[in-house]
Amino acid sequence: MKYDCVIVGSGPAGTVTARFAAEAGAKVLIIERRAEVGVPVLCGEGISRKIDNWGMIEGTRWIAGKMEGARIYSPDKTCVTVSAKFGGDETGYVVYRDIFDQELARHAVKAGAKIMMNTKALGLIKENGKIKGVKAKHLDEEIEIKADIVVGADGVDSKVGNWASIETTLKPNDLETCCQYTFTNVKNLDYFCEFYLGKEIAPGGYIWIFPKGKNIANVGIGILASLSEAGMAKKLLDKFIEKEERLKDAQPIRFLAGAVPVALPVETVRDNLILVGDAARHVDPITGGGLTHCLEVGKIAGEVIGKAVKEKNFSAEFLSEYETRWKEAIGKKMKRNYMVKEILLDMDDKTFNMLADSLKDYDFDEISTIGIVKALVKKHPMLLMKLRPLIKVAKES
Ligand SMILES: Cc1cc2nc3c(=O)[nH]c(=O)nc-3n(C[C@H](O)[C@H](O)[C@H](O)COP(=O)(O)OP(=O)(O)OC[C@H]3O[C@@H](n4cnc5c(N)ncnc54)[C@H](O)[C@@H]3O)c2cc1C
Repeated sequence: MKYDCVIVGSGPAGTVTARFAAEAGAKVLIIERRAEVGVPVLCGEGISRKIDNWGMIEGTRWIAGKMEGARIYSPDKTCVTVSAKFGGDETGYVVYRDIFDQELARHAVKAGAKIMMNTKALGLIKENGKIKGVKAKHLDEEIEIKADIVVGADGVDSKVGNWASIETTLKPNDLETCCQYTFTNVKNLDYFCEFYLGKEIAPGGYIWIFPKGKNIANVGIGILASLSEAGMAKKLLDKFIEKEERLKDAQPIRFLAGAVPVALPVETVRDNLILVGDAARHVDPITGGGLTHCLEVGKIAGEVIGKAVKEKNFSAEFLSEYETRWKEAIGKKMKRNYMVKEILLDMDDKTFNMLADSLKDYDFDEISTIGIVKALVKKHPMLLMKLRPLIKVAKES
C-alpha cells in the first residue's frame, strides 16, 4: 500500500486534514482502530457557532440543539447569564458528536480520501532514519502502509508523536479527568449551556449541563488530574446530580469517561510528519474545548500537505508552514488562555463568588473591558487587586 499521506485517527482533526489534503490533490488514507467513526462518543458535544462561516459541514442532522447562551454558576450558585451573542459564540450548538464526526468523514471521502476501519497503528516505518509510513494491524493482519507524510491525529493518548521523538507526556497539572452521563427525561431544560464552578464542586475544572433537546442533557465533570484521585470525578458528579431537582426522574442512557489536555501545544512538525488536534494539544486550556481548533488546524494541515505533495518536499522545513499558520490562527489565544488557566487555579471560591455577584446584573450586550472593570469595582473594590494578574494578561493580549 502506498499513499502520499497516511492519517492515524478518524476524529475531526484527522478527517478535516484528510479532506483538505485530498482536495489539494494528495492521495490520502485514514486509518482508525475503532469499528465505527465517531463511536463511542467521548465529548460534551458543545461547539461554537463560529463554524457556521467555515463551510466545512452541511445540513443540520448533526445539531441536537441551538443554544441561546450560557449560565455560569459561582460556588455559592450566583448565576451570570451571557446571551447567545456572547456566550453563544463558544457554546453555540450541542451536537450529536457521532453524526458530526461521520459528516466530516463523508466530506473527506467525497474529496477522494480512503478510510480503513479496524486498523490500529503500531509504529512508524523508518528507512535510513526517515519516516516512510506506518506499521499497523488490520483486524488480525499486520500490514505496512507506505506514505511520504504521516499525520498523528490520534487524540489525547497520541503515540505517533512519541514514535517521532516529540515530547507529548502530559503533566497532571495539564490534564483534565472527565466523565459524563447523558440523561433522558430531564425536567425544565431550556437552550442554555450551564457551567458550575467551585473547588468543592469540581477542583480545577467545572461541571456542565449541555441540553440536547427533547428532555435530554449531557451532564459531565472535568477536574484537574493533579487535584484528583481515583474515582473522584464520578463521585463529585454523582453528588451534584443527587441534589439537582431537574434530574430527579431522569435516567442515564450513556456514560463515558475520558481525558482532555489543558496544556500548551507541543512541536507539531518533523521531517515527513505532522501532529494535529488533541495529539498536538490544540485544546483551549480554559474550557477544554477542542472541536473548533481541530477544524481550523486540520484545514491548514491539509492545505500544507497538498503543497508538499505537489512540490515533493516533505522536510520539516517545508512542513513548518503548517506550524507557522496554526500559530497565527490560534497560537496567541492558546498561550493567553493557558496563562489565564494558571491564574484561575490560584483563585479561591470567595473571589469567584464576588466576581459573579459583580457581574450577575451586567448587561453583556454592552460588553466592554472598561464596563466590566467598573461593574467589578462598584460592588467589590478589592476584586481589582485580586484580579490584577488577569487584567495584566488581558491588556497584553
Ligand atoms: C468528556 C469530554 C468532554 C469534551 N467536551 C467537549 C466539548 O463539549 N466541546 C469541545 O469542543 N471539545 C470537547 N472535548 C474535547 C474534544 O472531544 C477533543 O478535542 C476532540 O475529540 C479532538 O479531536 P481529535 O480528532 O484530535 O481526536 P479524537 O476525536 O480523540 O480522535 C482520535 C482518533 O484516533 C483514533 N486512534 C487513536 N490511536 C490510534 C491508533 N494507534 N491507530 C488508529 N487509530 C487510532 C481514536 O480511536 C480516535 O478515533 C471533550 C473531551 C472529553 C474527553
